[in-house]
Amino acid sequence: EKLFQGKTALVTGAASGIGKAVALLYSQYGAQVMVSDLSDGQAVVEEITAAGGTAQFYQADVADPRQCQQLVQETINRFGRLDFACNNAGIGGELNATADYSLEGWQKIMDVNLNSVFYCMKYELEAMRVQGSGSIVNMGSILSQVGTAHSPGYVAAKHAVVGLTQTAALEYASKGIRINTVGPAYIDTPLLKNLPSEARQMLIGMHPIGRLGRSEEVAELVIWLSSDKASFVTGAYYPVDGGYLAQ
Ligand code: NAD
Repeated sequence: EKLFQGKTALVTGAASGIGKAVALLYSQYGAQVMVSDLSDGQAVVEEITAAGGTAQFYQADVADPRQCQQLVQETINRFGRLDFACNNAGIGGELNATADYSLEGWQKIMDVNLNSVFYCMKYELEAMRVQGSGSIVNMGSILSQVGTAHSPGYVAAKHAVVGLTQTAALEYASKGIRINTVGPAYIDTPLLKNLPSEARQMLIGMHPIGRLGRSEEVAELVIWLSSDKASFVTGAYYPVDGGYLAQ
């Protein structure tokens, strides 16, 4: 019997990168997976189905609270329960110093990288509270802990995800629901696709392990935190960063 047999997992931003790896790994462990994204995630569903798993795609813009509510409702409608949620959808946003950062860019990154986590958690917790069990993993970053020049919105949003996670964890700790943040360093995903090669080399050099991370390496941590193996872990920030924050 697989670890997550009979369980249901919801992953946002699951059409690409880290979210896709998380969706695939939940499925490998036997969970039914709701693959959600703003873009088409049907290919991920097909990959899961071809491997003998169960998955559905539901398109949702996590910056819209109504769509987050519908996403959770649809997950329950289709699969009957919600055991795990990985609130992963996110964007890189503008690259500008604070004085030059646009007001629109600020609003956008707060909507997609921070407000979305509140919206999704609100409705996920509503469902999990009824069940009396559940585990949520929010996608933070090393930039949940330190700054980086020219990404004030991203850094602020990712820092705030940690506080939101800690607060919700306290509220539901005694009710069988655990909530944690994972903090990847730079992971080789489409999010980094527009980087010139010098910038990429520079990023690699910032990781003591000497390379960028892989989406699968982040997914392994999400799976562990979701599982009962992490039954005493809640409100935590777990880095998966090749030694980045140890420097
Ligand atoms: P990615 O671009 O490969 O995937 C992100 C997915 O989110 C895409 O499929 C995109 O369509 C989706 N998305 C974007 N806006 C959305 C919206 N409004 N509603 C629903 N879906 C939306 O990027 P990734 O690298 O896999 O990033 C996933 C998460 O990991 C993000 O939260 C990102 O901040 C975080 N992260 C990434 C890195 C990295 O180096 N790649 C490092 C630390 C944290």
